[in-house]
Amino acid sequence: MSDGKKGGTAAAIERLRELDREIQLLRRSAALLNWDQETKMPKGGIAERSEQLALLEGLSHERLASAEMGELLEAAGSTEARPAGGEELSPRDGDFLRVLRREYERATKIPTRLVREIAAAVSTAQAVWVDARSSDDFQSFAPHMDKLLKLNIEKAEAIGYEKQIYDALLDEYEPSMTTERLGEVFGELEKALVPFVQELVDRGEVEDSFLRQAFPQAGQEAFCRHILSDMGYDFSRGRLDVSAHPFTISVGGNDVRITTHYRESNLMSALFGSIHEGGHALFEMGIAEEHHTSILGEGTSLGIHESQSRTWENMIGRSIPFWRRYFPVLREYFPGLLDGVGLSTWIRAINHVQPSLIRIEADELTYSLHVILRYELERALVNGEISVAELPGAWNGSMQRLLGIRPKNDAEGVLQDIHWAMGAIGYFPTYALGNLYGAQFYRKMEKDLGDVDSFILKGDLKTLRKWMAENIHRHGSSRTPAELLEEVTGEELQAGPYISYLREKYGKIYEL
Ligand code: ZN
Repeated sequence: MSDGKKGGTAAAIERLRELDREIQLLRRSAALLNWDQETKMPKGGIAERSEQLALLEGLSHERLASAEMGELLEAAGSTEARPAGGEELSPRDGDFLRVLRREYERATKIPTRLVREIAAAVSTAQAVWVDARSSDDFQSFAPHMDKLLKLNIEKAEAIGYEKQIYDALLDEYEPSMTTERLGEVFGELEKALVPFVQELVDRGEVEDSFLRQAFPQAGQEAFCRHILSDMGYDFSRGRLDVSAHPFTISVGGNDVRITTHYRESNLMSALFGSIHEGGHALFEMGIAEEHHTSILGEGTSLGIHESQSRTWENMIGRSIPFWRRYFPVLREYFPGLLDGVGLSTWIRAINHVQPSLIRIEADELTYSLHVILRYELERALVNGEISVAELPGAWNGSMQRLLGIRPKNDAEGVLQDIHWAMGAIGYFPTYALGNLYGAQFYRKMEKDLGDVDSFILKGDLKTLRKWMAENIHRHGSSRTPAELLEEVTGEELQAGPYISYLREKYGKIYEL
């Protein structure tokens, strides 16, 4: 390699880093406007806000899909695999180029006409979906769903795929995941979960009426902040606010905000919602400084992100040691409300397994089955095995098979989630993938730290957070999900560790 070429590569990378920095600054500025829209903005601001966001989105897309970006990526050389890029590249440059190239290719492979058509179809479909759900009218939503399905198929064809068309859609949310692998692990999970859920349901009712008392909001907020602080959420680099739907948003590497939603008669909602979002936020807060304001400065995929939020919410936040430590603390925040409730009654109540129709209200055990249902239907739709008209029937049939219950109407069935109206096909699997990755990471954490329960019992959650930051968070998106999993655990994706974890946990709680 000549010196001239080396200089050319270095210069190309330097300019690419400048362009990328501008893109990230535009995106984070848009993130702040989004945060404001969901938390503080007066209703009247919406029209101009939409215009502001569209402008920022246009500016960052322009840079990403520019001819200059294409030429620079070409000049920087081939970096298809990490870290085996061009020989002269450091791993850091190799990671950077690989992720930037991936985004550039996705941005340029999809024709602008198709991007606009999808945006327009989504905006109409969402409004129709809101009405269709409230009036339980799938027929009115069906033509829009049909259009979004066709546009998604067109998008997948434009992006390209090796084996199955669904791979191209999945890849947007979970890079390099394949339909084949997903089918295997979800199949294994389904086979284990369906009879296990039934076994627990057969154990009978669980006393949980005390969860539906009026818990003053001030106490809920104070307790949430207490737990978040113990987890290591840094309030000097973040905020906790209120929004209709809880979310986490990075306005910068040192400004990672979360929101929650308080309901007086439901303590669980804000509490576990905050812990969940706190898990997402710790990921973003734990990313190494060198990746801040770069394309590598966010979590690597939705599935890996969910692994962190679900580990905190369920594996830690709903565990026996967690409540041995924190139940007495919780009681202090709500004097008199939980006096007659014993620790094991509490733990059983917050881990109550009950097949239900609505995914976002599902317990830890049945949750993955809701996701598998949607994944199977999406794959069948994309492959042309079922039509949109057949969707409600297929939904109800799957619900019966997986959870043993049947929706009375489409509003509590096929119309319940907004994702399809948002044009998102291939998104749902990441929710259940998070459970699987989470259990694999947790098992490795137990190997490294020893008795993890003993740290939880002491309220020393920061030691767990430190392990996660060192092993997972700091890498940002410099590894693909599969690479990260392999690097941390030495394994590929598996269902076994998650299934064992569930059996052990529920075996104890239900005294099987
Ligand atoms: Zn989440």
